[in-house]
Amino acid sequence: MKFYQKNFCRLCKSRKIECQLSLTPTPPADSYVKKNDLNKTQDLIPLNLYLCNDCGHTQLSHVIDAEEVYLNYIYETESTLGLGSHFQNCAHDIVQSFKPQKGGLVVDIGSNDGILLSFFKDLGMNTLGVDPMPGIAEKANKRGIETIPDFFNSDIAYKIVKDYETPAIISCNNLVADTDELDSFIDNIKIMMDHDTLFFFETFYFYLQVKNNVWDFTYHEHYSYFTVKPLKAYFKKLGLEIIDVKPNETKGGSMRMALQLVGGKRKISSNVQDFIDKEEAEGFQTPKIFKTYSKKISKGKNEYSKLINNIKREGKKIIGYGASATSTTLIYHYDMGNHLDYLVDDFEAKQNLFSPGKGLPVYPPNKIYEDHPDYIVLLAWRYYKKILDKHQDFIKNGGKFIIPLPNLKIVDYIE
Ligand SMILES: [Zn+2]
Repeated sequence: MKFYQKNFCRLCKSRKIECQLSLTPTPPADSYVKKNDLNKTQDLIPLNLYLCNDCGHTQLSHVIDAEEVYLNYIYETESTLGLGSHFQNCAHDIVQSFKPQKGGLVVDIGSNDGILLSFFKDLGMNTLGVDPMPGIAEKANKRGIETIPDFFNSDIAYKIVKDYETPAIISCNNLVADTDELDSFIDNIKIMMDHDTLFFFETFYFYLQVKNNVWDFTYHEHYSYFTVKPLKAYFKKLGLEIIDVKPNETKGGSMRMALQLVGGKRKISSNVQDFIDKEEAEGFQTPKIFKTYSKKISKGKNEYSKLINNIKREGKKIIGYGASATSTTLIYHYDMGNHLDYLVDDFEAKQNLFSPGKGLPVYPPNKIYEDHPDYIVLLAWRYYKKILDKHQDFIKNGGKFIIPLPNLKIVDYIE
């Protein structure tokens, strides 16, 4: 596994970055392997959050060779993740708030199966997707969303302007935090922009992640843990201005940020400064916030360990539900490898694989009813309601769910 450590801030390039929070090192979080690959060692990579003392940006400094890992990922389409209504609202809100020219071009970078673009299309916009994931562009093309099956770069940006037109809207969701070389990415976006173009992206909002205690979203794929203040300075340097920030609860706490070229035609919303004020008041660009965050994480870990030790003493059988990237962070940091017998997951592509590093087998959820474990640790705790609804029989038969986050609890009744 190729990885290296970056010794400067991803945003302002300052070398004054300092480790503020260490989670337990893990292999790449989504590297679930086939049986034949079980004997190959998976390197453990440090999982440390660094704070830049100059601009206040929070980030991981260890970088994994992207092409090596991510092209082999098993992808889930945005449509199957149940994000349909979220993207529908997003398209409506953008069109209503920013009033792009009707029939203008919307370009979505990392467009997945074209779900967001399909809603813009319904609103009378023209659409074009860009996504390199093998097979996904075909899927999008089939649903009528033209998609370029390639990595977004300057060639693609020039090609879009030349062969299509200057986009009215450019979007990229859940990509900016995962981009190591952010400068060149933003430069390439700018190639496609004029003073009317609206650029927006959705990303994790570190402010909400800390508030909601969703630290399991920390894994190597996510390099940046954004707050508004450092981003404002960063974009300004690149000739862009933030005109709007809108938080939402997707993926444990996200925000949608809208930008234009400096001096563009749209007004800057007062909520940009409001969020910066809130962040500053709570010390989000200082070591203070990490002290609180670390304490919260350690407390949760201690409570969990105590609970598991008691259960183990009774000789009970424990398994895990959910085989995603966040599961890997949780399994390693809470040291679950030695008490979970196996994992189950609803997603077919994950079944019959083995978890990163620990090699826990992944089965379909019906295994629960053959094997009758006493406890299920709900690693996919974000889907709490959905999973509990589906497995009421497990509870009726005396089984118990352990919900590890955001606050530890045992559920042994049907809500
Ligand atoms: Zn910085």
